[in-house]
Amino acid sequence: MATSEVVPAIEGWFTEGEKPALIGTQCIHCKTYFFPKEETYCRNPGCQSTEFETVELSREGTIWSYAEHFYQPPEPYIAPEPFEPYTIAAVELAEEKLVILGQVAKGVAHSDLKAGMKVELVVEPLYDLDDKTHTVWKWKPLAA
Ligand SMILES: [Zn+2]
Repeated sequence: MATSEVVPAIEGWFTEGEKPALIGTQCIHCKTYFFPKEETYCRNPGCQSTEFETVELSREGTIWSYAEHFYQPPEPYIAPEPFEPYTIAAVELAEEKLVILGQVAKGVAHSDLKAGMKVELVVEPLYDLDDKTHTVWKWKPLAA
């Protein structure tokens, strides 16, 4: 089997490698974090800044809530075929306190999760298309 190229499903939203992280921005005036990246104007009503710094966000967070989905996700979340139910977790980042939605890592079942559980960010294949493996971030429970 030919080795296919590995590319992010969404360009510029996360780093890859051993310690992947989401890429966000921080308003240089009010220090508010944004993910996805906000680069136009600060959404903090009291700020109105247009200056942002690109930052890597916390790789760890805490599960707020999670749900199993039994329907095909909307784009860009093309589901593998045959379709299998998948679990989406809402995770509050350790430092920035942003709540980030993501699928849970391969092999993690809905019943393995609990609200308040610590998780870390991993990057895993999402789907194959045009001989390329497209990756996305997922949440993986930290070993207790
Ligand atoms: Zn601001």
